[in-house]
Amino acid sequence: MSAHDIVIVGGGGAGIRAAIAASEVSSKLSIALVSKVYPMRSHTVSAEGGTAAVLREFDNLDLHAKDTIFGSDFMADQDAVEAFVKEAPGELIQLEHWGCPWSRDPDGRVSVRSFGGMSVDRTLFAADKTGFHLLHTLFQTSLKYDNIIRYDECFLTSLLVDDGKVCGVTSINLYTGQVEVIAGKAVILCTGGGGRIFPFTTNAAINTGDGMAAAYRAGVALKDMEFVQYHPTGLPGTGILITEASRGEGGWLKNKDGYRYLQDYGLGPPTDKPTHRKMELGPRDILSRCHMQEYAKGHTFDGPYGHYVHLDLRHLGEEMINKKLPFVRELASKYVGIDPVYEPIPVRPVVHYMMGGISTDINAKTTLEGLYAAGEAACVSLNGGNRLGSNSLTELLVFGTRAGRAAAAYATRASAPVAAKIQALAADEQRRLDRQFFKKDGGKERIAAIRQEMQKAMEEGAGIYRDEEKMQQACNTLRTLRERFKNIIIEDRGTTFNTEVMNALELDYMLDVAEAVANSALKRKESRGSHTRTDFPKRDDANFLKHSLAFRTPDGPRIEYLPVTITRWQPEERKY
Ligand SMILES: Cc1cc2nc3c(=O)[nH]c(=O)nc-3n(C[C@H](O)[C@H](O)[C@H](O)COP(=O)(O)OP(=O)(O)OC[C@H]3O[C@@H](n4cnc5c(N)ncnc54)[C@H](O)[C@@H]3O)c2cc1C
Repeated sequence: MSAHDIVIVGGGGAGIRAAIAASEVSSKLSIALVSKVYPMRSHTVSAEGGTAAVLREFDNLDLHAKDTIFGSDFMADQDAVEAFVKEAPGELIQLEHWGCPWSRDPDGRVSVRSFGGMSVDRTLFAADKTGFHLLHTLFQTSLKYDNIIRYDECFLTSLLVDDGKVCGVTSINLYTGQVEVIAGKAVILCTGGGGRIFPFTTNAAINTGDGMAAAYRAGVALKDMEFVQYHPTGLPGTGILITEASRGEGGWLKNKDGYRYLQDYGLGPPTDKPTHRKMELGPRDILSRCHMQEYAKGHTFDGPYGHYVHLDLRHLGEEMINKKLPFVRELASKYVGIDPVYEPIPVRPVVHYMMGGISTDINAKTTLEGLYAAGEAACVSLNGGNRLGSNSLTELLVFGTRAGRAAAAYATRASAPVAAKIQALAADEQRRLDRQFFKKDGGKERIAAIRQEMQKAMEEGAGIYRDEEKMQQACNTLRTLRERFKNIIIEDRGTTFNTEVMNALELDYMLDVAEAVANSALKRKESRGSHTRTDFPKRDDANFLKHSLAFRTPDGPRIEYLPVTITRWQPEERKY
């Protein structure tokens, strides 16, 4: 057993930012950073478009807050939004000081670009590889701190809870196959999103919602899980993202007749370059729905991977594409064999981001003593019903920092967990893992088959358009899959990088997350943000201006509600 003051699970942007913040509180704190992959392989690395903050004279904090709240369809907690916009500029300047190579204007200032749903240009970027540079900057900075001890390629299997307090985690060292105990007075979950519960997503294969499910199993609620963001421009077949920056720089969406169809959906009129919050720069939930309506009208192309439209960048010219969108050119040519300088890119909506997550307060604290969460795994809530593109990377920094500081303050005053109790809890976990995974005999269900059925149920029941019958069907299917999962086959008895066991553990987590999504969606009888019901097409503030909280029970999720915090922006109709 190893013991630390703080155990952070997740080596992406949120986890590393939290580790640095905690270590800056005191160099005496011992901080473990646990990640199932080498930190630079976390999904943050694949963020392309940019990260938002108010840094220019034409912008102001209230405008950023208003855009975020509008984008969220009034589901964001406004105190969290106000804290976020206020702390965002400092975080991005800090990254500049740590060496992040932002793209710059000719006068030397850090550049800002347009992004969907934002009223002015406020998205900082490093070409179209922002996540790579951001994560690299954080990772290299973290190496300066001797008190951050890394556990790379260690897989979280459970939170250890004693006497109502979290006291560490168990993890599988993927190299040795051993189950190890990493004890801590505080634990911060920064395990990212869970887009892999859907079949078609921009998310990395590792985005399986593990931390969300681990917290849920420990009795913490998952908040606003019904809100799942589709990004309107993924590549058919792979789901690989074509960043919103391509529209921010002036790209057009066209249907099969070459027509910029967004003008028919209240987002027009078309201009040479889409203007803020209009046309191609409308929010993602609205653009994804417009695509589906074009499909219903028979205006989309039909390809081997289903319907798609065109993202046309040709008018931007080769020089601009090479300078601002080199990665888009590379992805389009490698994955669909077309060069966007000469041809339009085929795109369609794909699952991109989970607005919901582990319910926390404004300081990243959960209801379980000693447990904190930040980043995409958490729900503060900043993003409400629909996140604005480029707010998420900033969220990792602002709330990663808040989590690190809050956990450090707590760990400084909390007493160390009792070793004997931790050992007993860990022994229970070892027995569970042996029984269900490592030494499991018999079984007749294939992991891949259950995973595919889960993904299909989610797409059919909890996709862009939802209704009672389809969602109920998804909930029922997921219950059956939970039962069938008990009977899975595990044949690999190896100890070194046993990917079969890891896939099984991830599927186990995903089934919990998927049930929370489908059941929260079923109970929300209105349409708001990304949650669109054909049977309840209107937003219903009288009954549903409230967060959902999903609690795990043996019979499936129990849904409760929590009021939304309104400070200065009274709910009004969301029009663009
Ligand atoms: C393709 C793509 C492009 C994007 N572009 C943008 C953008 O331009 N701007 C923007 O604002 N947002 C963007 N987003 C969203 C944003 O990048 C993510 O929300 C954010 O990076 C998530 O960061 P995180 O630190 O919360 O989690 P991640 O970066 O996903 O890291 C999760 C960490 O948790 C660890 N982990 C998970 N499970 C376990 C386990 N069981 N045991 C141990 N460790 C575990 C992983 O190893 C990893 O280190 C994009 C997302 C995608 C998918």
